Amino acid sequence: AKSAGRNRFHYFTRELGVAAQQRLQQEQALKTALLNQEIYVEYQPKIDFSSDQLVGVEALVRWRRQGQVVSPAQFIPVAEESGQIIEIGRHVLRTACRDARRVLVGPLHAVPVAVNVSIRQLTDPSFVGDLQSALAESGLPGHALEIEVTESVLMQNMEAAAEVLGKIKALGVRIAIDDFGTGYSSLAYLASLPVDVLKIDKFFVDAYATHPKNMAVITAIIDLAQHLQLEVIAEGVETRTQADFLLAHGCRCMQGYYFSRPLSLPALQDYAERLNPE
Ligand code: C2E
Ligand code: CA
Ligand code: CA
Ligand code: CA
Repeated sequence: AKSAGRNRFHYFTRELGVAAQQRLQQEQALKTALLNQEIYVEYQPKIDFSSDQLVGVEALVRWRRQGQVVSPAQFIPVAEESGQIIEIGRHVLRTACRDARRVLVGPLHAVPVAVNVSIRQLTDPSFVGDLQSALAESGLPGHALEIEVTESVLMQNMEAAAEVLGKIKALGVRIAIDDFGTGYSSLAYLASLPVDVLKIDKFFVDAYATHPKNMAVITAIIDLAQHLQLEVIAEGVETRTQADFLLAHGCRCMQGYYFSRPLSLPALQDYAERLNPE
């Protein structure tokens, strides 16, 4: 038994070593990626399904690593851990503001660009200043920028979140709660935050047909948004059936593959010109 224990110990240290090494390699690769401009941004349209108008876009970060696109689900956690998320986030924010200023205001109807913000970014002392600089250097008005913060992140550190959200709101920047319905928000708390939008998580959009209780969750979120005078949008809409259901229940704004995948800036420009002609 003793020797088996020792073997197990060796096994674990070797495995840990490999994991740590992989992490270190990815961190190193991310550092190079930032320098070599392998980190870029795509934009997914947000649509008002009752009028077929473009009402916003979400910036989604991408990493082209040796010709292959790495999913943010893979590298964002690593960047969170290493702190590189601050630099990546700053890059996404500046890019999104600059692109939005060029494409979404001007000849097209002004629609906000949304940027995802992690807890580490939100609570970083430089965050509000970064927002201010990104707006100032691009010339994008505050109301044309939105940040998406996940519900779970807000609930993790309510007091810190409330304070920084107040400062963000003071810049005119819109605030959306992402993946709404998956965390455990205190409703009283929600009403006290300077929030503009609730974003219904894809989970409920997917599962409402198979699990009727999820239908109740969707309609409850839509009602809640109406009562709190918040906007509501559903993410991950993939079918006409889902879109019809959401619209019938009072959720007009939607985002998902049914309308469009995330697009390059030129493709977004074409898309926007088709939907919102002058
Ligand atoms: P999210 O904020 O919930 O973003 C929605 C994800 O769902 C995106 O994946 C999007 O491409 C995908 N999606 C959109 N519509 C559909 C659909 O109809 N069907 C399906 N199956 N998927 C759809 P993506 O781009 O891989 O991003 C994954 C997550 O990574 C995001 O989830 C967000 O949490 C995070 N992320 C992305 N960009 C950034 C960023 O710049 N900063 C931070 N901190 N996180 C980011
Ligand atoms: Ca999001
Ligand atoms: Ca989301
Ligand atoms: Ca989600």
